[in-house]
Amino acid sequence: MSALYGTYARSDLAFERGEGVRLFSQDGAEYLDFHSGVAVNALGHGDPHLVATLKSAAEKVWHTANTFTIPEQERLAQRLTDATFADAVFFTNSGTEAIECAIKTARRYFWDKGEADRYEIIAFTGSFHGRTLGAIAAGGNPSYLEGFGPPAPGFKHATPNDLDSVKALIGPQTCAILIEPVQGEGGVTAMTTDFMQGLRRLCDENGLLLILDEIQCGFGRTGRFFAHEWAGVTPDIVAVAKAIGGGFPLGACLARGEIAKAMVPGTHGSTYGGNPLACTVGNAVLDRILAPGFLDHANSMGQRLAWHLQQLAQRFPQFVVEMRGKGLLAGIKITPPVKDFVTRLRDDHKLLTIAAGDNVLRLLPPLIVTEADLEDAMARISAAFTAIEAETATAPAVD
Ligand SMILES: *Cc1c(COP(=O)(O)O)cnc(C)c1O
Repeated sequence: MSALYGTYARSDLAFERGEGVRLFSQDGAEYLDFHSGVAVNALGHGDPHLVATLKSAAEKVWHTANTFTIPEQERLAQRLTDATFADAVFFTNSGTEAIECAIKTARRYFWDKGEADRYEIIAFTGSFHGRTLGAIAAGGNPSYLEGFGPPAPGFKHATPNDLDSVKALIGPQTCAILIEPVQGEGGVTAMTTDFMQGLRRLCDENGLLLILDEIQCGFGRTGRFFAHEWAGVTPDIVAVAKAIGGGFPLGACLARGEIAKAMVPGTHGSTYGGNPLACTVGNAVLDRILAPGFLDHANSMGQRLAWHLQQLAQRFPQFVVEMRGKGLLAGIKITPPVKDFVTRLRDDHKLLTIAAGDNVLRLLPPLIVTEADLEDAMARISAAFTAIEAETATAPAVD
């Protein structure tokens, strides 16, 4: 009996060691990791630069409060703003806190302008923004809201890739639109370029802020630093986490300077957020992701993965219904129940993957994945499909 909350449907599998795209379990079995701890291990496992950085950081100051200057935090913020649309950064320990900060920043911006009634945010069905009371209200997934009292007010939900559904919800109280450019957990749905540009236009026409949740799709996962770059839109606020710490808990809310300026002393805070240890690791992750050629590699691997999945779909049309996603945030909607299929891949073929909504098999390899790893993963998925085929062929007919 475990002493933990029963909030996760856990497997007994425990890992001891990792190396690049591979994980080794306590009993010595080798697994191919196309899960990356839900898009966190962008640099895979045991990246030498991250390991060396963390070891040397352990000899220095681990933590000081945000009442003092934290040079590594200043440096990480400067580098993030240099590389992106943003002018100001607030550091958190997780994605859901980055979303909380984004929501508070947007509301406070309007409050500061004397428009306190403008607090409503248009979010989307099928989205996921985290597990705080604010984030579950923003996500709107009924099964995550159930049993936790009245949802936090101020969120409405439109349909992804349907601009009319967004227009219909805009009213005098609307302050922002909040969207994942590629929905992760909801089913790996990529927003179209037209739709993203349409949202930017709607925001401009109505004086709204465009808030992007790039917690899963950002930090190189789609082959650009941010997924929204593909659509050529400029957001006002972006929440990031997951890959930003490469496995060390870290998140951030990035904003344009004019918008962040309403967040004055006392409006927000976090004890751990952006502490020296976390930001030292964050800087090391950024060293690797911004190094020449890194994003090009992630991009070309994303294209190769799409090509491989297409081959798979042609070979197994009875199992693969549709291809989803963008770059190395890829998915295939399949006919076999996806949770069972993820278990089968893990136990019988030593391939780690993750399920997403709408019966989608989600593939999130580390961004350092190679062509050989992609081929290896495809061979394992093919073997799993072939095994299901064989089982169905030999199963006794049921009347
Ligand atoms: C994982 C995720 C979150 C929540 O991040 P946590 O670190 O689990 O709080 C929010 N939004 C998206 C898109 C995510 O993938």
